[in-house]
Amino acid sequence: MTTHQYDVTVVGAGTSGCYAAATVAEAGYDVVVVERKDAEEAGHIACGDALKGASDFPEAIPKSRLEPAFTNTDVDHGRFEIPQEDTVLEIPVPGELAVIDRWEYGRCLIAGAKDAGAEFHYDTVVQDVIQSDDGEVTGVKAVRKGDPTTYEADIVVDAAGALSLLQDKTELEDATFDTNVRYSQFCSAYREIIEVDEPVEWNDALVFKPTDRSAGYLWYFPRTETEINAGLGFQMNEEPMELVDDLKADLQNRSEFQGAEVQDKLGAALPTRRPYDSAVAPGFMAVGDAAGHVNPTTGGGIAGAAYAGKYAAEQAIGAIEDGRTGDESALWEYNVNVMDHFGARYAALDVYNIFTTAYDVDDLMGLLAALPGEKLAEALYGGSTSVSFGLKVKMAMKSFGHWGTIYDLYQTKTLADRLLDHYERYPSDPGGFAAWQRERDDIMDDIYEVTGAEAKY
Ligand SMILES: Cc1cc2nc3c(=O)[nH]c(=O)nc-3n(C[C@H](O)[C@H](O)[C@H](O)COP(=O)(O)OP(=O)(O)OC[C@H]3O[C@@H](n4cnc5c(N)ncnc54)[C@H](O)[C@@H]3O)c2cc1C
Repeated sequence: MTTHQYDVTVVGAGTSGCYAAATVAEAGYDVVVVERKDAEEAGHIACGDALKGASDFPEAIPKSRLEPAFTNTDVDHGRFEIPQEDTVLEIPVPGELAVIDRWEYGRCLIAGAKDAGAEFHYDTVVQDVIQSDDGEVTGVKAVRKGDPTTYEADIVVDAAGALSLLQDKTELEDATFDTNVRYSQFCSAYREIIEVDEPVEWNDALVFKPTDRSAGYLWYFPRTETEINAGLGFQMNEEPMELVDDLKADLQNRSEFQGAEVQDKLGAALPTRRPYDSAVAPGFMAVGDAAGHVNPTTGGGIAGAAYAGKYAAEQAIGAIEDGRTGDESALWEYNVNVMDHFGARYAALDVYNIFTTAYDVDDLMGLLAALPGEKLAEALYGGSTSVSFGLKVKMAMKSFGHWGTIYDLYQTKTLADRLLDHYERYPSDPGGFAAWQRERDDIMDDIYEVTGAEAKY
C-alpha cells in the first residue's frame, strides 16, 4: 500500500476538478488530481460540446488556454425544430458561445492546471473514502495502476461527476451535505460525432428538436461545417429511450446526414436538478456535476463546474489557513457563492423542467411555437422573463388551443420567481439552513400542486 499526503486531493480531472486544482496550486498549496482514466483518455467526456461564456471563466485557467479547442465561434442562435407544428423557431443565444473539440478542451484544461502546479495521477480509481470517528473526511482509497494507494488530505474535493461514487461511500447524515439525490433527477444522454461530406446549412446554429416525449430533446451542434455533434437525452423518471436507435432513426430522416460517418460515440448521465442545498461536509466538498451544478433546462454544465471549482478551492484554502478544515461552517461560504452566482437561477429554472414533465409534448410544442423567440431565450438562460402587453395579445392569438397550458405556465412562472427570491436569501451560515430548507420545501409543494407534477425531491 502506497500512501500520499496532500493539502487537497481532488477526485476527477474534468472541468470542476481542474479549476479547483489550479486555484489551490496557484495559492501555493499541494494538490493532486486523481483520475480513473489514463493520460491519453483523460478529458474525453460525453458532451454536446457547446461552451457558453468562456470569456468570463475564472483566471486560474483563462479562456486563452482553452481557445485552441474552439472549433466553431460563429454560432449565435438556437434553431428549434418543431415537427408537430411544422415550425422552425430561430432564437438568439445571449452572450458568447463556442462549439468545441471536447477532448482537446479536456487536454487544455489539464495542461492549464499543471501549469498552475497541480499534480495528476492517472489510471487511479477511487474506491472508498477515509473518515474519522467524528465524521471528518481525511482522504480516499484508490487503486493506482493496479496498486492499492491511499491519499490523505486536509480537504477532499469530489469532482467525480454525476452519480459520484464518493457520496455513496461517505457517512453524511450528520452534515448539511445534500443527500436527497435520486436517479429520477438525472438525464441519460448519448452523443455521436459525425462527419458529413457537404457543409451543413445551419453551421451558425445550435439545432434542438423535441423527442417524442416531453422530457427529452435531440440536438445537432456543428463543431465545424462538416463535423456535427449529434445527441439526445431523456429524463430518468421517464420510460427509458433507446438512445442509439432513436438517434439513428432521426439521422436517417435528415438528408444532410446521408453517407455520413460516425467518428466517436459516448454516453453519460447528467444532473437535471436544482444544485445541492449544501455541498460541504467536514473535510469534504463536492463540485460540478457531483453537486448538481448544471443548468437543468439546457444541460449546460461546463460554466457552473468551472466556477464551483474555483469557489470550493478558495474556501478550502481559507479553512486550511485557519486550521478549520474539519468544521463545515468554515467551508459554508462556498455554498453561498454558488447560490449567489448561478445556483439560485438554476433552482428556478428547474421549476420549468418540473412543469414540462407534467404536460403532453404536443401541447408544449404548440405553446413553444407561440412564444416570442427573445422571451424564450430569456426564460431559458435567465430563469425568469417578462412579457409586455402587446406581446401577450399576439401570443394569445397565436396560441389559441393552448390557453389552459398558458395559464398554468403563468402560475408556474410566479412560483419560479418566488423560489428565485427565496434562493437569493440563502443563509450566510449553517445556523439558518434548516429554516431556509423548510420554507423552500413549502414553495416546492405549491409548485407540485399547480403543475400536477410528481414530487422530484
Ligand atoms: C451527453 C452530454 C452532453 C452534454 N452537453 C453539454 C454541453 O453542450 N455544454 C455544457 O456546458 N455541458 C454539457 N454537458 C454537461 C457537462 O459535460 C458537465 O456538466 C461537465 O462536464 C461537468 O464537469 P465535471 O468536472 O463536474 O465532471 P466530469 O466532466 O464528468 O468529470 C468527472 C471526472 O471524474 C472522473 N472520475 C469519476 N469517478 C472517478 C473515480 N471513482 N476515481 C477517479 N476518477 C473518477 C471521470 O473519469 C471524469 O474525468 C453534457 C453532458 C452530457 C452527459
